[in-house]
Amino acid sequence: MKRIARIQIQRFDVLLDEPYTVAYGTFDREFGYLVTVTDTDGNVGVGLGTPCDEAYDSPQLALDGFSGMTFEEPPMCDSPIAFYNERLRDIKSPAVRCGFDIAMWDLAGKQQGTPTYNLFARGAYRVKPNSVTVCIKPTLQATAHEAREIIRKYPHLSLMKIKLSGEGDVERCQAIRDVVPSGLGYILDANQAYTDPDHGFRVMKQIREILGEIVVIEQPTPREDIEALARITKLVNFSKVYADESCVGEADVQTIVDRSAAHGVNIKLQKAGGITPALAMLALVEKHNLTAMLGCMMELPMAVAAAAHISVVHDSVVVTDLDSDLALFSVGKTALGFSEGARTIQDISGLGCAVEEPLAAEAEKRGWLARESVLDISF
Ligand SMILES: [Mg+2]
Repeated sequence: MKRIARIQIQRFDVLLDEPYTVAYGTFDREFGYLVTVTDTDGNVGVGLGTPCDEAYDSPQLALDGFSGMTFEEPPMCDSPIAFYNERLRDIKSPAVRCGFDIAMWDLAGKQQGTPTYNLFARGAYRVKPNSVTVCIKPTLQATAHEAREIIRKYPHLSLMKIKLSGEGDVERCQAIRDVVPSGLGYILDANQAYTDPDHGFRVMKQIREILGEIVVIEQPTPREDIEALARITKLVNFSKVYADESCVGEADVQTIVDRSAAHGVNIKLQKAGGITPALAMLALVEKHNLTAMLGCMMELPMAVAAAAHISVVHDSVVVTDLDSDLALFSVGKTALGFSEGARTIQDISGLGCAVEEPLAAEAEKRGWLARESVLDISF
């Protein structure tokens, strides 16, 4: 029986190369709570929880969640699923659940000397096309510039994601198409911008004529309006329509199934509350013949890696949108690569991410990283 010897929680703020704008706001840094668990044999698991509005979470709720955890004795750490069910399931903040759950799966991989994806007991390792996102920029020139830069940085990209805002989207997509090579597939992410599904459908159809292959249309309609989502899903016959903001956890997948509201869902670990609940969502997706993408919030590499580990062994995951680690100053090692348009994972134990102290200290000195200890318990 293995037990945890130490738990550390730190708040991590990392500056982005460039501010990032989507339909609901602009961000200049990524932050999260880094959860580090050490077992009595000295194995270390690292996870990350990032509270986000989409999951009805907040930094305060997460802080309350961490400080509300009590440990009368060193917790057992033989099984991440058992740990989730016993210790995490009832915690309100998805970020707290997610940070711990990722750390426990990382630890389990290290204890067993295998990449974590091998513990999911799924299919063979197979990478999926990964999108990189053109965000909302103030001008068409800036939009075209960003699309060109993405192609320059990732020449083997097969999938580009375009953020839509509900206004000027056709022009924005035309500006992108004018500067990128032919043969790309696209994900259109409207982040709920189209309140009228019939109008949304007409715009998507126009964009399709410009871009060609649309692989996924993500959350075109407001999150609570399942009827509007179902309506646009019924109308669109040239792409899959996926729920993102409308699908936080397992119950939402069931609602989408029951109301035939989408062809699939965008699963994000920070919404779901970790790997364990995301695996349960995927089981439901598979059972009902839907498909899924694995996406991320503005997350640091430890969390992005966790999503990538799920994606490579789950056949119902057809694309990934895992790119939030790419624009960050590195504060450690990562087993996560990006090759031939797909996220790849090196064959090393656990999730393959760790903070390296010299790099982190250097980043801190330069003002790219701010750290603060939230909790440090030794048993
Ligand atoms: Mg989305």
